[in-house]
Amino acid sequence: QLAYVNGRILPLADASLHVEDRGTQFADAVYEVCAVMNGRILDWGPHLVRLRRNLAELGIIWSMADGPFGLQARRLIAANGHKDCLLYIQISRGVARRDHAFPDAAPASVVMTVRRFDFGQRVRQLGSGIKVITRPDNRWGRVDIKTTGLLGNVLAKQAAREAGAFEAWLLAGETVREGSSTNAWIVKDGRIITHPTGTSILPGIARDSLIRLATAAQMVVEERPFTLAEARDADEAFLTSTTAPILPVVAVDEHRIGKEGFRGKPGPVTARLAELVWAEVARQTGW
Ligand code: PMP
Repeated sequence: QLAYVNGRILPLADASLHVEDRGTQFADAVYEVCAVMNGRILDWGPHLVRLRRNLAELGIIWSMADGPFGLQARRLIAANGHKDCLLYIQISRGVARRDHAFPDAAPASVVMTVRRFDFGQRVRQLGSGIKVITRPDNRWGRVDIKTTGLLGNVLAKQAAREAGAFEAWLLAGETVREGSSTNAWIVKDGRIITHPTGTSILPGIARDSLIRLATAAQMVVEERPFTLAEARDADEAFLTSTTAPILPVVAVDEHRIGKEGFRGKPGPVTARLAELVWAEVARQTGW
């Protein structure tokens, strides 16, 4: 397995960052995870736009243009030789003597890794759906910026793992914001509901894609906060992310979701959306 570090491709075991990289000391770094299917990067354009916005929000200066960077990413993917994988990109404010304030002139550190991923598993999970638990959202106030400061997400995901659930939905009071690494959705009376973007959720690429696909298919999407009570009472629920393009949520905290006949089972609106999502994946990548 190969990795990319500041312009060089080398074996993962030999790839490293300096101990005083600000990514490790301050989580002063942003990242992206992209799905690569059939050797092609899904939604590369939107990922680049989000990455650049996050760098700008934090004032991290990175001079590489989109074209050359895309070539480097594709070189790494080709060198690894996996057709279906996840591409991880991390850009930090660079290496400097430890001081909270920004260093004067440290070039950004850029690392990329690729790991094989079985997207077929996500298609198989459409049949059964997954369970989520809920946890208080104790993250910082700018979770719209995709930084590597993920401790709140890590602890919530671990709680889910220990509870035998796929994901933890994060609550602000009664409001469901999003999952620890996925966006959260419910369906009620045919309306598809998800928390609005802003500073309290990560604007997911899969979320954006689903809104576009659903709207184009004349389905009604409402971007508004919803409560845990609404989620429990929903007709259907699901989640989206790069690594799980769409998965039905069939239970929230052991409370089974769904109308009569579908309780605890994936519902028809989610199934329709899954068709649209996977058709878009096929259109972009031939997967
Ligand atoms: N919310 C959070 C907190 C995440 O970490 C992620 C995954 N990066 C998402 C939502 C989903 O985003 P995307 O669709 O871009 O993978």
